[in-house]
Amino acid sequence: MLSTMQDEPLSLGRLLRYAGEAHTASTVTTWTGGTTRSRSYPELAARAAQLAGALTKLGVGAFDRVATFMWNNNEHLEVYSAVPAMGAVLHALNIRLFPEQLVFIANHAEDRVVVVDGSLVETFAKVLPKMRTVRHVVVVNGDVHALDAPPSVAVHAYEDLIAGEPTTFDYPVLDERSAAAMCYTSGTTGDPKGVVYSHRSLYLHAMHVTTPSAMSLSARDRCLAVVPMFHVNAWSLPYAAFVSGASLLMPDQFLQPGPLLAFMAAARPTCAAAVPTVWTGVLARLEQHPQDLSHLREVVVGGSAVPPVLMKAFEDQHGVRVLHGWGMTETSSLGAVAHPPAWASEDEAWPYRVSQGLFPPLVEHRLVDDGNVLPQDGEALGELEVRGPWITGSYYSPTGELEGSDAFDDGWLRTGDVGRISPDGYLTLADRAKDVIKSGGEWISSVDLENGVMSHPDVAEAAVFGVPDEKWDERPCVAVVLRGGATADVEALRDHLAGSCAKWQLPERWTFVAEVPKTSVGKFDKKTLRQQYAAGDLEVVLAD
Ligand code: AMP
Repeated sequence: MLSTMQDEPLSLGRLLRYAGEAHTASTVTTWTGGTTRSRSYPELAARAAQLAGALTKLGVGAFDRVATFMWNNNEHLEVYSAVPAMGAVLHALNIRLFPEQLVFIANHAEDRVVVVDGSLVETFAKVLPKMRTVRHVVVVNGDVHALDAPPSVAVHAYEDLIAGEPTTFDYPVLDERSAAAMCYTSGTTGDPKGVVYSHRSLYLHAMHVTTPSAMSLSARDRCLAVVPMFHVNAWSLPYAAFVSGASLLMPDQFLQPGPLLAFMAAARPTCAAAVPTVWTGVLARLEQHPQDLSHLREVVVGGSAVPPVLMKAFEDQHGVRVLHGWGMTETSSLGAVAHPPAWASEDEAWPYRVSQGLFPPLVEHRLVDDGNVLPQDGEALGELEVRGPWITGSYYSPTGELEGSDAFDDGWLRTGDVGRISPDGYLTLADRAKDVIKSGGEWISSVDLENGVMSHPDVAEAAVFGVPDEKWDERPCVAVVLRGGATADVEALRDHLAGSCAKWQLPERWTFVAEVPKTSVGKFDKKTLRQQYAAGDLEVVLAD
């Protein structure tokens, strides 16, 4: 311990204070569909302090979970700011989840307060009665009476709640290793798992996001956060904006290509971040309705592999550079970013840019197969394992019982992603170890769908596997084995399945087979199914 340096804890409260004091000209702006509403970072800091005061009066204390059920907007950023700074834990709920998953997650996380957008009250009302630990609901810009809350839950209007509270708050000094925020992964084989970020992990990750090795953010940027704030903290853009002074542009509920482009025309972002399907839609819209995008220096694409054709089209047709990144809920978002080496010409750069990217110094990585660490020679294919200060070391457990421990390997996180790493350190993913289907950037559990189909009395076996889809990147296809003499058709099976899954998850493609191929240990062999599908060997029925 020869160091003579001071030991100031890294905390999100510090970042919030800094944003309010140093970035006085930076703003957060929300699109309302036809116009914008903005607040400066000092105004944001003042309102966050009011919210912290109000939440304290509601009894919110250290580590209490304050959830959000919101679009990306000004108020969501206020909750993002106030909750960790006051020592409570921010939990952004995924508004697109099936009700049962939402209820499971809110109960597992023991959410105490939920802040809900007025436009989402109707959806939220359906799940609230089953959320056992929620005591307060705060409605933003909406009708508090529309909720019909159970007697155990008090409902408040956001603006009324914070009105009259002081615009400064005495934020506590926090241990940098204490919890600041949490996000849930979608369960692949079991229930969703909670990742709890610390102040230190979010602070370090936010710093990384601002660097030229990641998004090169500065106070000259206006960053359009299309990626939802419930998807790995909007890839850390909110906290990275506090570090860098980048202004934030929030699309609220206007996420279709037309409204997004209207927002872009009005607010002229310099950078933007979203999953590939968003950009595919934007590109298609631009073909019909050309628009100047010269203000946009870069779009960041991640969450699933960027289609090279998308990258090319954006660059060739609109002069917008696409930056590809890989990450997970467990890696605080950015685990690798595909900036090409400095020596590479445009042509030489291409394979690097479509790869999943280069790891930053704080993300140690290795490939493992069957317990052996593989060489990083661009050839050997293995499961990617990572470790570092913004990688989760375990999953949240309310009971202290270990959850999802098979995701960890001697201190490393097993990512479930299979790929190669080149001798110069670039990751290229080949497949996912598990067979979860990613549709429009959102997970669909193949096992859940299989269980749903197999609960139909006419079904002997059903295997669900991912197939490419032009619009959504990937969609589920169901291979069904009917019981002898059974006659159920696709319509009957889909009707049945609709009772146990969200509508957007319902598969369009179905194939009736005599037998589902099996691996050597008797599991469904989805790799073979995918190959059969690609080769046109399966007779596929398309539902409407
Ligand atoms: P999530 O936790 O929902 O963000 O999902 C993380 C998973 O998404 C990773 O484990 C990958 O399987 C996939 N993923 C994320 N980014 C990429 C990418 N750039 N290319 C391919 N797959 C990706």
